[in-house]
Amino acid sequence: MRVLNALGEKVNHVYGVAGAEQEYFLIDRALFVQRPDLVYVGRTLFGAAAPKGQEFDDHYFCPINDKVLAFMRDVDKELWKLGVIVKTEHNEVAPRQHELAPCYARVNLAADGDQLTMEVLEQTAERHGLACLLHEKPFDRLNGSGKHNNWSMMTDKNENLFEPGVTPRQNARFLLMLAAVVKAVDDYPELLLASISSRGNDCRLGGFEAPPRVLTVFLGQSAERAIRLATNGKWRYGVDILPAVAKNTDRNRTSPFAFTGNKFEFRSVGSSASVADVNTAINVAVAESLRQFADKLAHAPNAMKCAGELVAETFAKHRRVVFNGNNYSDEWASEAKLRGLKNCDCVDAAIALTNAHNVNVLARHNIMNYKEVSARQKIMLQNYINTVRAEANVALEMCRKQIFSSAEEYIATLVQTAQGKSALGIDHQQTSDRAEKLGKLLKTVETRAARLRSHLDRLSTLDDTTDIAYYCRDAVSPAMDRLRTAADRLETLIPAQFWRLPTYGQMLFGVK
Ligand SMILES: [Mg+2]
Repeated sequence: MRVLNALGEKVNHVYGVAGAEQEYFLIDRALFVQRPDLVYVGRTLFGAAAPKGQEFDDHYFCPINDKVLAFMRDVDKELWKLGVIVKTEHNEVAPRQHELAPCYARVNLAADGDQLTMEVLEQTAERHGLACLLHEKPFDRLNGSGKHNNWSMMTDKNENLFEPGVTPRQNARFLLMLAAVVKAVDDYPELLLASISSRGNDCRLGGFEAPPRVLTVFLGQSAERAIRLATNGKWRYGVDILPAVAKNTDRNRTSPFAFTGNKFEFRSVGSSASVADVNTAINVAVAESLRQFADKLAHAPNAMKCAGELVAETFAKHRRVVFNGNNYSDEWASEAKLRGLKNCDCVDAAIALTNAHNVNVLARHNIMNYKEVSARQKIMLQNYINTVRAEANVALEMCRKQIFSSAEEYIATLVQTAQGKSALGIDHQQTSDRAEKLGKLLKTVETRAARLRSHLDRLSTLDDTTDIAYYCRDAVSPAMDRLRTAADRLETLIPAQFWRLPTYGQMLFGVK
């Protein structure tokens, strides 16, 4: 409001709006309840890839099947009753993956609506004999699920502040707002990353069409051209000669934080997260940029000239977070390092949350004081630890209850078959070889399970929360990955009738 009033606009109120696109998987409930990993921790901890994945994009482009359509209609009705206006529903890229998008609402209402949406999705799925998986990465080697948070700012006159204008004044306002966001992302990357971080999202980010953990802003060609002019110093004479920015129609689906014409789409949010955190972080970081702008504008003899200078200065100073290229490429990962951009996972982000820089901005804007931030940090770390520990316990239990016995039973059958063949004078070499190969692989799985067990034992001897979180990330989680690799190889060698868990093929394609 202070910025707008300085530019000569009479505005009484500015508020954030958000629309959170919700991605999810839907699988048969009968199969879901046979997967302890899905029931306990929401994602598959084991599971060899099906022979076919998402490479054909056939699920994305095919019509929605009747069963899912009936589910979506019910979800719509339930949500409309609750005042959550959902509109768009479609298939997503991975098999059995879908998406739902609500209409925009003020951020607090959007956050409430989003919470209700997740609840309604899960309850409705149950009534339809389905299970709705909201986890960020329920299936390995397939796309995970996100919750793209579309965010913008509106005035009480119903004007969207990210709508490019036609007059020099509107144009200055628009560029100043863009500059505020670019500055916010560069000034508060850890705050923004902490707001989207969780163990589940760590499993998703950085691959399979999910943005990397390094935060950058995509602005599109016309805004990028304006920035080039700004940083060349051609704008220093005031806003009257600012080039008009044409409405942005470019899309960059690899960008974590993309300007999409009249709003920003933050694509890093996890599918099971509440959008309250992420919008709090965006709002406070942008509010801080605007506060600094407002202070300068208030003391400027010529506010419009000052606005032009602020735009030029801000883009020049923060252009390292502007990136229009492919965020999924390896070249970008090394360039991001050169630019000195932060790359935080959940543990790093949680620890950074209580840095003075982050606490100060939250306190200055009366969002949270140190105690409140530090409480959230503890909860974040504890959630992370609890999740990794539960995952490891479930993985070990699945080894004991399903995986070892599946392999042992099949090996015993192979040995028996080899003996029978031998008694009948039939060549049994291949059968015996198979039994031996499986025996060795089973031994590997057992060894890796034992190693995971010993990491868990070591975990219980640590008492500092930060140490425990690091140990979960750096020792327990990699040990789980190694166990999975061996167990998944085992699965591919065992016939369906011996394997005691529903496979990826069954859950995703209905193939026995
Ligand atoms: Mg989507």
